[in-house]
Amino acid sequence: MPEQIFDVIVIGSGIGGLVTATQLAAKGAQVLVLERYLIPGGSAGYFERNGYRFDVGASMILGFGKQGTTNLLTRALEAVDMTLETIPDPVQIHYHLPHGLNLKVHRAYENFLQELGDRFPHERQGVRRFYDQCRQVFNCLNRIELLSLEDPRYVARVFFQHPLACLGLAKYLPVNVATVARRHIQDPELLKFIDMECYCWSVAPAERTPLINAGMVFSDRHYGGVNYPKGGVGQIAQTLVDGLIKLGGEIQYRARVTEISIQNGKAVGVKLASGKVYRAKRIVSNATRWDTFETLLSQLPLPGREQRWRQRYQKSPSFLSLHLGVNASVLPAGTECHHILLEDWDSMEVAEGTIFLSIPTLLDPDLAPPGRHILHTFTPSWITDWQGLTPSQYRVQKEVAAARILHRLEKLFPGLEAALDYQEVGTPRTHRRFLGRVDGTYGPIPAKKLMGLLGMLFNRTAIPGLYCVGDSTFPGQGLNAVAFSGVACAHRIAVDLGLPISAG
Ligand SMILES: Cc1cc2nc3c(=O)[nH]c(=O)nc-3n(C[C@H](O)[C@H](O)[C@H](O)COP(=O)(O)OP(=O)(O)OC[C@H]3O[C@@H](n4cnc5c(N)ncnc54)[C@H](O)[C@@H]3O)c2cc1C
Repeated sequence: MPEQIFDVIVIGSGIGGLVTATQLAAKGAQVLVLERYLIPGGSAGYFERNGYRFDVGASMILGFGKQGTTNLLTRALEAVDMTLETIPDPVQIHYHLPHGLNLKVHRAYENFLQELGDRFPHERQGVRRFYDQCRQVFNCLNRIELLSLEDPRYVARVFFQHPLACLGLAKYLPVNVATVARRHIQDPELLKFIDMECYCWSVAPAERTPLINAGMVFSDRHYGGVNYPKGGVGQIAQTLVDGLIKLGGEIQYRARVTEISIQNGKAVGVKLASGKVYRAKRIVSNATRWDTFETLLSQLPLPGREQRWRQRYQKSPSFLSLHLGVNASVLPAGTECHHILLEDWDSMEVAEGTIFLSIPTLLDPDLAPPGRHILHTFTPSWITDWQGLTPSQYRVQKEVAAARILHRLEKLFPGLEAALDYQEVGTPRTHRRFLGRVDGTYGPIPAKKLMGLLGMLFNRTAIPGLYCVGDSTFPGQGLNAVAFSGVACAHRIAVDLGLPISAG
């Protein structure tokens, strides 16, 4: 029997990889997804213990809106004729910040501006001007069909259809959030708050966060809103997989790719840890750029483009994660789903500085046994702090670190430690092992101040036939962002393979 040659092989079934795969399957391509783990989703996966279904990572989800063009998760599911029930979250984040700065980002824009303006009455106008400017970015994005900026014909078509929106975006592309914030706001504490507004999803302060990304996050939370998938975040990947299979696509689990095969300088296939070899016309890597070029292509010298990217971007820290099951009685009535806790502004970026907390069972109680809630809490942590330990040192270090986090959370929820029913601690080593991400990193962050998003790489690589997708490609981290990367990657491959592309 002749060897089967797929149109496209996707290495990894994170949301970036699955969106690429499903978009291509919907265009008629023969697609094979190879996933090293047991289930799809990567950082948007889940695991089950003692009746709890825990999200691995992401749980504050944008992109499930019903209108506009930036609702890329809704659109990705629609492309394969699937939908997902989602539960709207009335508050994006409840901040618990230094000097008693305690406020909520309400889904209703005006309510949020009112609450922030009440806290900083002398800056009420500046606050409105800043967030309104972010909205201008969003309005430009939300008007145009989002496809690959690596396709000049698409770029030209969109420009002729929406010249003002495109000019607006071009203007904002090289801009960081801090530049715009300082134009409108003077109060140092309020500027720190804007830093945190960026840090909590970009893991970088305003000075190193592109305005385009902030425009999306700061506006879509009030437009499409934050919506939690019924059944847990893992449902997104699972439903995309169902759509892929319905269209004749294939996915294999426990299929770890160890090498991307190169012939005459072109990517032509992959080798698995099992020794199996697959070939395809195009290869997509949903592994991080570091894993792709340093591990899967270790036989080649690092291309110059990747070397330059490494000078601009560094690995963000990983996380120390606590997956907790607690007695429901410990949460007071009116508790919100997502919280950020920081006691000292100088600690925002340091290990165990900012604490992120999500309680998804407030939106979907079925994720925990009756009378219980899930608390998923995580805080930045570097892998270097977890290396070179004996198994017992590792265990003790985990216990001690978890106790520190619980102690701080007691201030939000007195009695928390006594209310614990289940606890599992993950470290950067856990993230590296289960997500296959080098050093367990959350993704790339600018190594220095950059001009907005200009330094980020798109999907094509220096190796013909090889594409990257996911959070180490434009526009970066977050489920809606990697869905964008997936749509763009699939579009560029469709053009390259001569598949039908969207007419816009
Ligand atoms: C703790 C945490 C909290 C987060 N919270 C949020 C949030 O609230 N909202 C939000 O939008 N985003 C959040 N994020 C970010 C978001 O989850 C990620 O940006 C996004 O899921 C990354 O998707 P991806 O497709 O780039 O890659 P990944 O999710 O990393 O998926 C890559 C996949 O490739 C597989 N793979 C890797 N190498 C190989 C190989 N050699 N062979 C086969 N398979 C391989 C991996 O197993 C994995 O399944 C969070 C992330 C973390 C870690």
